[in-house]
Parts: sequence; C-alpha cells; structure tokens
Amino acid sequence: MCTDTKHTPDDASWLQQSIIHLKGIGDKMQERFARRSLLTFNDLLFHLPTRYQDKTRVVPIASLRIGDSALIHGELVHCQTQSTMKRPMLSCDINDGSGVMSLRFFHFTHYQAKALSRATEQGKWLMGFGEIKRARHSFEIIHPEYRICEPQQVLMLEETLSPIYPTTEGLTQKILRNAIAQVLALLQQRLGVSPSQVGNKKLLKQPLIADLLPLPIRQRLALPSTIEALFYLHQPPPDCPIFALQEGSDPYRKALIFEELLAHQLTMKQAYQAKKQYHAHSLISRNDVQITSQQDATEKLQYSAQFLQQLPFKLTQAQERVIAEIALDMSQTHPMQRLVQGDVGSGKTVVAAMAGLYAIESGFQVALMAPTELLAEQHRTNFQHWFSPLSLQVAWLSGKTRAKQRREALQSIADGSAHIVIGTHALFQDDVLFQHLGLVIIDEQHRFGVHQRLSLLNKGLPNENNAYDYYPHQLIMTATPIPRTLAMTAYADLDCSIIDELPPGRTPVETVVLSEQRRNAVLQRVYQACLAGRQAYWVCTLIEESELLQCQAAEKTYEQLHDQFPDLTIGLVHGRLKAQEKQSVMQAFKQGEIALLIATTVIEVGVDVPNASLMIIENAERLGLSQLHQLRGRVGRGSQSSACVLMYGGRLSKNAKARLMTLRETNDGFIVAQKDLALRGPGEVLGTKQTGLAEMKIADIIRDQSLLPQVSNIAQELINEYPDSVEPIINRWLGQKMEYQNV
Ligand code: ADP
Ligand code: MG
Repeated sequence: MCTDTKHTPDDASWLQQSIIHLKGIGDKMQERFARRSLLTFNDLLFHLPTRYQDKTRVVPIASLRIGDSALIHGELVHCQTQSTMKRPMLSCDINDGSGVMSLRFFHFTHYQAKALSRATEQGKWLMGFGEIKRARHSFEIIHPEYRICEPQQVLMLEETLSPIYPTTEGLTQKILRNAIAQVLALLQQRLGVSPSQVGNKKLLKQPLIADLLPLPIRQRLALPSTIEALFYLHQPPPDCPIFALQEGSDPYRKALIFEELLAHQLTMKQAYQAKKQYHAHSLISRNDVQITSQQDATEKLQYSAQFLQQLPFKLTQAQERVIAEIALDMSQTHPMQRLVQGDVGSGKTVVAAMAGLYAIESGFQVALMAPTELLAEQHRTNFQHWFSPLSLQVAWLSGKTRAKQRREALQSIADGSAHIVIGTHALFQDDVLFQHLGLVIIDEQHRFGVHQRLSLLNKGLPNENNAYDYYPHQLIMTATPIPRTLAMTAYADLDCSIIDELPPGRTPVETVVLSEQRRNAVLQRVYQACLAGRQAYWVCTLIEESELLQCQAAEKTYEQLHDQFPDLTIGLVHGRLKAQEKQSVMQAFKQGEIALLIATTVIEVGVDVPNASLMIIENAERLGLSQLHQLRGRVGRGSQSSACVLMYGGRLSKNAKARLMTLRETNDGFIVAQKDLALRGPGEVLGTKQTGLAEMKIADIIRDQSLLPQVSNIAQELINEYPDSVEPIINRWLGQKMEYQNV
C-alpha cells in the first residue's frame, strides 16, 4: 500500500489556506472567486486551463491559419478611420515581408486612433495577437491585443504558452493567471525547488501534492506524477504540442482527467456498496430463480404464471432475460437497485408487472411511480386490466385524487388490502404508509441522480410496521437508453439491464421532415388516412415552457380541424384537462372511437395505442432529440406500417436540422441518444445537477469516453485492494461538492 497518501497536517493546512492571502485579492475579489468555488490554494492548483494561447513565437502572415490565435509582427503600412452608416471603424494594415493583413477596431478611443495613425506615418512596427479571420483579400484580426514597437523590436513574446482558464463574470484571465501563478510560486518555495527542478525525482517523494493513486497502478498506466502534471498544465514549456494539450491526449492532462473520472466513479461505487449493506426481504424464496418463462412456471408462482398465460403474446428473449435478472436480485437479502434500459416500445411495462407479481406472491406490496399523471393513468389502466383477473387490488394515488378517494386509498395501502399502488410523486407523501412495501418501481422520464435515488429508497422505509429497517427493492425503468460506456459511469450506482429487442412484427416508423408551408397538404393526407380507418396523433408544441400556452395551441388546432373536417371524430388531450376527461378521451382513442387525437406533449411517454399509425408533430424543430424520439415511439406499435411527419416552421438552425435529420435516418434509440449527447452534451442529456458529471473540472465525459472502461476497472481495484486511497481521491476532486450535497 502506498504511504505517500498521508498528508502531514501542515501540508494539508497549507493547501487549505484561503486565497485572501494572495496579493491582489481582497474581499470583493474573493467573492468572485467563490462564485467558481475557488476558495483555497488547493482549489486554484486544481483549477486547470481548458485552452492555451501561443505567444511563444511569431507566425509569418503567409503561414497563418484561419481560426488559430496567433502572434503577428510587422510594419504598419496603412491606417484609417472610417465612419460607415452607424459605427466608426479603425483599420490598420501591417506587412511582415511574407504578406499583408488587417487589424480592425469597432470600439476605440480617439487617442488610440491618433497613436496608431502617427506610428504608421513614422514607419513603426506593431505586434498583435488575436484570432485570425478571413478578410476580403487576406486575413484580419478584430480587436487584437497589440503593442506599437520600433522596427524589428520584439515585445510581447512569452516563454510559456499562456493558459486560458474557465472563468466567470468579473474574473479576468489576468486576475486568474496572476493568482494561480502566485500559488505555484509559493508551492515551489515551500518545496524548495526552482522551476527547472520541477521534474526532479526527489520532488516525487514530497507529500504536499501527493500521488493518490497507488504506485503499482500509476506505473501500470504509465501516469506521470500529480505535481509534475500540475506544473506542466499551468505552465507548459514552449515546445510542448499545444494540440495534444488541449485535446486531452497529452499524458499530463490525461493523468489528471483519469483521476477526476476516477473520483466520480468511486463516489458512485461507494453509494452502490453502501446500499448493499442495507437489509431487504428476499422476495423469491424458491431455489431456482431462473424459472420465468411460460413453460417453466410452476404452481407456486401462481400470479406470475397466470399472468403470463393470460398475455396475448410471448415474451421476447430480452424480456425473459431481464425478468430473470430482476428475479435473482429480488431473491437477495439486500435491496435490488436495478435500472432497466429499453427503447420506446420494447415492452418494459410487462417486465415491471412480472417484478410486481413476484413481490405480491411473497406477500408484499408494490409501489409504481410514474413521472406524469397521464402515464400513471395508463399504467393504472394496464395493471387493472392485467391484475383484476388475478383478483389483485390496484390502488390509485395522484396529486389530484379527491379527499374521500384518497382516504380510502390510504386505508387500503395501510391495511395491506391494496396489492399495488400506482401514482405520481404523490406516492411519496408522508402520510402514505404501506403495510408491507417490498418493491418500488419508478418509470422514469427524467433521470434521477444518485442522491435522489438514495432518498427515494429511504422514502419507502419509515413505517411503524417496519421495525427492522428493511428497505424495499428498487426497480427503475428508463426509455432513453444511453451508450454502454456512459451508462457504466452515469449509473455506476445501479445494476443495469437492457431490453435490446423489440417485440416481433413491428415495422419501423417512416419519418419525413416537411416545412410548415405544406401544412394543408399534410392535413389532407391525414384526413384521407383517417377516413380509410387509420388513427393519428396531431401533436402541438410550443417553445415556451408554459403549459397553458401549449394547451391553448392544442385547443385552437382542435377547433380549426373540427370545423374543417366535421365528418371526422376528433379528440383533444392536454395537461389541463381533468384526470377523468383525459382518461375518457384516451380510452375512446384506444377503442378506435376517435380517429384523430390532437395532443400536447403530455403524450410523450407511456401512451400505448397500437392501432395509431400516424403522427404529425408541429414545430418539431423546437423539441429535443430524445423528446421527439419518445413522441414518435407512440406509433409503430402495431403490425401496420407507420409514419411520422416532423413539421418545422421558419428557417432551421444548424442544430435543429441535425436533430430532424437524425430522426429521419434512424429509429434506434441508442443511436438517437448518442447523437443527442454529441449535440447537447452530457449535462443536458443526463441531467446536469443530478449526475454531477457535467460539472467536472477537466474531464469531459464525451471526449474522454474511451477512458471510462479502464476508469471503472481501476475504481473497483482501488476499492478492493487499496481502500485507504479512496477517500483522498474523492476529496481532492469532489470534496466541496460532496459536503454541499450532504447539507
Ligand atoms: P415501453 O417499453 O415503451 O414502456 P410498453 O411496455 O408500453 O413499452 O409496450 C409497448 C407495447 O408492446 C404494448 O402494447 C405491449 O403490450 C406490447 N408488448 C410488450 N411486450 C410484447 C411482446 N413480447 N410481444 C408483443 N407485444 C408486446
Ligand atoms: Mg413505458
């Protein structure tokens, strides 16, 4: 085991010193640093640059590349101030012998213009720095940093690449660089080394910035030491490859990225291990938990066996496999913590029903929570249909349940006569007391983070009947699958099952993208299709979050289509209808009494009407990729071929176009998710606040994906073989955040 993970108290307190001790940082400035969670020396040391500027060399104009930031140096050959329509503009040309280029200013002082103009008359030179843009005949820099100089005189050259730090309002690069450089200098002083000795062997033994990864692992991965990496990244040598440094392929950056990813992985794995210590009732007492298919079902499995017999279809192999995984988990004496990923329409509900029946067979109750009222309603309808032949009682609890019904429901939940309780978040209110809750199923629309998942687990717990601290088993279902390596990281605190097969006989939905200008033509086609017996969804969206406006748009469309096609039965469903009204409209649609259903995005998840084969989404460009994929998943559920029309208004942004094209090209939820991650980033897709993955200091879960499998393995190795190294690594990278989350 490595010994250098032990700090002396002195070193620790040195690192934890407040940045107020640095020159140039007073109370005001300290506040600004605090906004970026930069409080201590240690925080500054680990606040790493995301990019670099190269002012270590002058680039000849002839070798400039558009988009690079470069230092240029040449004779001022022209200078003029123009007053175009609204704004004045100052422009200068410089010539360095290899070519001529321009510098342009839209904001400048009178003094500045005069100085540049005089310098030009006097034949002086200029050094400038900025991003190179294409100009009419050559290149230009808008608002360069610059200095006027004597012919051939060199002024702005720097010895190292200049770091660009992530920053926030009121914190300039200059202030950040200055503060960080001070800490680095103090660090060198404390270690008693000169800058050139930073790579020194002796330095590696210092305990101040310890190498938290055990030596054998560091050697195996050929990772440089942390202290070397810090110095290298803050003050890279002039000859270092800037591209590698920025892209994360540089070994020094990679070492720190690796450690940061590891810290995240370790917290998730810790949460997972902690939950394994909890007690749960073993809900399947038979020895052979593999038995789940119709043929193998035995007497003892009465409910689940009967259920399978009454189903009008055979389970897919993927469903059987996942059910077996769940059954095995539920037979354990610690709580299941399993996530089932499956594309829309892959048949997750049946899997949930089987899990529920296992719990009920063992004499326990089940809670099924859905994110929206509408989806909860759907589940209620499904489960009532499936469970009443088995004489099992389904209770219902939503935010809108009336007092009397609510009292009755609470009673049946408390006395155990309700076998399964279905509802929204209302299920987790304090007065909901279960007699014997054994399984919590969460059909999840938006992902929960590890901490929320823990608190949900706890909610199932407290109850005077539950004296032994038994936790319920927990099953989470998600319809937005994410790539395997990412799942490994984002869900390291869960076991994952994947339903990677759709029920047979599905035909892929054909997706077309059309401009709103074709709305009338589309309407006619929908009308004809409905007359011919097909059923269609017409989805109204709005960019505003306002549910009210969305509902109004749907109402307007409803009235318009109602007038236009009086011979068509049209229904309307949106979030502001009463539960009863919603349910009766959905029921009528399901039974084929309604041909065309005007809806808002409330139908996004869970709605299951296999006969509906046509969907039109208005203003599709306003919705996100996975939301569109979910919506589209409402069709293509039956055996007839289905179509989805994505209508857009106005001109498409590049990003919106990419989204619509992706949907046109694929029906595969995994590919859609991958593309969504690339377009929106992991923070948005996985839920920024919840996962913490988006707030990493230097790692980038998408860019650094290839490291994740190794990170996962090493995290496990640390937990097993070097348990003492776990806390220091977590503290270094997540210290403050973890404290914050525990508040
Ligand atoms: P999701 O995974 O999107 O929640 P559902 O559970 O709503 O999917 O299932 C979609 C539809 O497929 C439902 O109508 C369901 O009854 C049906 N289904 C589920 N499993 C099978 C199967 N093995 N064979 C045929 N149809 C199935
Ligand atoms: Mg579902």
